[in-house]
Amino acid sequence: TPLPDYLTEVLEVCGTDSSGELAAYIPELAAADPDRLALGLCTVDGTGYAVGDDAVRFSIQSISKPFAYALALADLGLDAVLAKVGVEPSGEAFNELSLEEDSGRPLNPMINAGAITVHALVGMDRVRRGFAAFAGRELAVDDEVSSSELATADRNRAIAYMLRNHGIVEDDPQEVVAGYTEQCSLLVDVADLAAMAATLANGGVQPVTGEEVVPRWVARQVLSVMATCGMYDAAGDWFTTVGIPAKSGVSGGLIGALPGRAGLAVFSPRLDQHGNSVRGVQVFERLSTDMGMHLMEVP
Ligand code: GLN
Repeated sequence: TPLPDYLTEVLEVCGTDSSGELAAYIPELAAADPDRLALGLCTVDGTGYAVGDDAVRFSIQSISKPFAYALALADLGLDAVLAKVGVEPSGEAFNELSLEEDSGRPLNPMINAGAITVHALVGMDRVRRGFAAFAGRELAVDDEVSSSELATADRNRAIAYMLRNHGIVEDDPQEVVAGYTEQCSLLVDVADLAAMAATLANGGVQPVTGEEVVPRWVARQVLSVMATCGMYDAAGDWFTTVGIPAKSGVSGGLIGALPGRAGLAVFSPRLDQHGNSVRGVQVFERLSTDMGMHLMEVP
């Protein structure tokens, strides 16, 4: 079977499951069409495929976290970033109000505490420019999603105040959360996300434009943190079953990066209890099995 036909088949099989719930805490996301389903793949030599509802754009949400982390590492270096944000899986929900005991650092950059800190390190201008380089095109902010989330973002504001209290963030917590929320509201489709993931899978070089977006060591660092922390409190379950570095977002996006091979992205808005896309996880489980993608599989 040609690859696009196979990918369409996978969507058809996984498309019948309508379990899970839309994210309700962001009013604008609760209004999304729950039945959308799309899959994108981009190889490290720059060949892209996208099937299903691949024209639909959605806010990137937490899938922005590994890319903002990559920019922080590239700009400030490993030690400066590690001084502010750790690399230990939290085993907790993405919006947990928790910091490391002695250092006051967020446990990792994939939970909100870490991502808010990373955003404060890089700023929104750098995020815009950097994300355009990862995707190979400029991304626009969805102002409706951004203001809708900001109106109800007390939990993230609490996290930001806690971070400033510990001296991890120095900027105004309100402004940091506004910037972080904008970062989460950048609009992408599955082809964009597949290209962004493929850039990490390709050692930091965007496979279509050929631009070195981040150095090779940065891609390795980011993929490692995605493997251990990318799926929040489902990270262990995910890595044993699917076996590739990944990141989910609350609008229903899910990316995976297969080092040296490809970036993959699924969009399906209904979420499981961890905040990960139900059908997104299923699509990845199937692809991993069929295409032998599990990194711990002995060849
Ligand atoms: N903007 C969302 C938040 O901070 C991102 C969360 C997510 O995608 N898991 O709550």
